Amino acid sequence: MMSPAARFINLLFATLLLLALGAHAQTAKLPNVTILATGGTIAGTGSTSTTTVGYTAATVGVQSLIKAVPELAKVANVTGEQVFQIASENMGNEHWLTLAKRVNVLLAQANVDGIVITHGTDTMEETAYFLNLVVKSRKPVVLVGAMRPSTALSADGPINLYNAVLLAGSPDAVGKGVMVAMNDQIHAARDVTKTNTSTPDAFKTPELGMLGYFQGNRALFYHQPIRKHTADTEFDVSALTSLPQVDIAYGYANVGPTVVDALVAAGAKGLIHAGVGDGSLAAKVLPSLKAARAKGVIIVRASRVGQGILARNGEANDDALDFVASDTLNPQKARILLMLALTKTNNTRDIQRMFYTY
Ligand code: ASP
Repeated sequence: MMSPAARFINLLFATLLLLALGAHAQTAKLPNVTILATGGTIAGTGSTSTTTVGYTAATVGVQSLIKAVPELAKVANVTGEQVFQIASENMGNEHWLTLAKRVNVLLAQANVDGIVITHGTDTMEETAYFLNLVVKSRKPVVLVGAMRPSTALSADGPINLYNAVLLAGSPDAVGKGVMVAMNDQIHAARDVTKTNTSTPDAFKTPELGMLGYFQGNRALFYHQPIRKHTADTEFDVSALTSLPQVDIAYGYANVGPTVVDALVAAGAKGLIHAGVGDGSLAAKVLPSLKAARAKGVIIVRASRVGQGILARNGEANDDALDFVASDTLNPQKARILLMLALTKTNNTRDIQRMFYTY
């Protein structure tokens, strides 16, 4: 017969053992998230804590970014890789191909549940949309950055990174395509855009709406993307080492043919015309666009306005001109879809279908 004291000690040990096992099980249950670091302001440093402009982007390494947010360990088993260390205005097609291939390799591994990509904010929406079209997995891929450098008072990088890791490890994020996590909000790659040069609320999905919020240590969804993405696209970059040259010509009052002519002479295979209004074509530019099309260059009409559907056969007779309408894609995202489209076809009807699909 056990004494009451011995029974109490036995009970105490049994409880401690159960608690320890429970804690272990919880750690083992945490998702595995890989952070791929590419640079940007989230990895930037300024000379003082109040330096929020005139700082240097892309100086802090991925391990330091992770160390700065110990809370990450509570929501995921995090590993980091430094893929590039650049300001995102220097992001190029070759960077995208390298990044996409690495993401696809990692997501094919059973021990990777999601990916976070730290990135400069200037071209984050472009990298996000490119990956949205070429990642071959339904696992979450989340881009994150910061509007203030890591050394600033109220730097937004650490909380943004925490939210991004939370999202990349969330089962609710599976199948939602590539996302952007900024300022406590979740945005879809296709529709998000940077709308402010410097404030922390720069990323918005105007009109079409963001996907959700972060609150109470949870990623909360209210919408989901409708356009096809990731595992459901027809694009495959695994064998590509370059992308077709596609450039953007901007529309404005008094515009002439110089830029279009120069881009075609420089070898563009496709041109995005970022027209005024609903993609209107100035009379002085139209002959150059027609001549470019006659040479085989694919012309996509987009708008510099930022909202709304670019109406096919609206401000121009696209059927007669054999041009393509960008639908709701902004010019910089239309450029990405056209580059990928040109890896598959030169047929404008097929390309128009892609613009209505992705
Ligand atoms: N120029 C920086 C970049 O895009 C700005 C930022 O990250 O916010 O890398």
